[in-house]
Amino acid sequence: MARHTPKVQRLIDALRILPSVGPKSAQRIAYQLLERNRDGGLQLADALTSAMQGVGSCASCRTFCEQDVCSICRDEQRANARQLCVVASSADLYAIEHTGMFHGRYFVLRGLLSPLDGIGPQQLGLELFAQQLQSGHYDEVILATNPTVEGEATAHFIAELCRQSNIAVSRLAQGMPVGGELEYVDGNTLSYAFSGRKQV
Ligand code: ZN
Repeated sequence: MARHTPKVQRLIDALRILPSVGPKSAQRIAYQLLERNRDGGLQLADALTSAMQGVGSCASCRTFCEQDVCSICRDEQRANARQLCVVASSADLYAIEHTGMFHGRYFVLRGLLSPLDGIGPQQLGLELFAQQLQSGHYDEVILATNPTVEGEATAHFIAELCRQSNIAVSRLAQGMPVGGELEYVDGNTLSYAFSGRKQV
């Protein structure tokens, strides 16, 4: 049986880290790039290297960022800068920004509490979050984690931190599909969820 050359095999193996790319798809992508789009392949390699090496996280909110602090945290014009919205991922942050409904700041957890997977408060940057609460910069925390089991558990944990710091805390209103990923919820639903948020 013919084998791939070592470099082709390495490319196929590397492509398999992509979500939902199995061995067959990886081979198809590798051959497609080699046969028809070497320029595109080189651009992809360059973009990957540049992003993997050059994208860090905001020292204040943990969203992806190429400087110390992201543009949202630096923006002095945000109308509700005393509101802090907690989201599970940068994708959720962008979904909320896209609605244009929210003019405060964010904190990005980059995951949700999941003890069985080894994701605890430390992995979610909750030490940095606690520092933010104590900074005196915020009057209200808005919890925008998904209404999944992990999302609810994380929201409860964070709500408790807020209570200990005497900061008002609210949760996005219902209306979002249970178990739905916030980034896939349409803008109207998200806007409604923001305006109807409830104290917790
Ligand atoms: Zn930031």
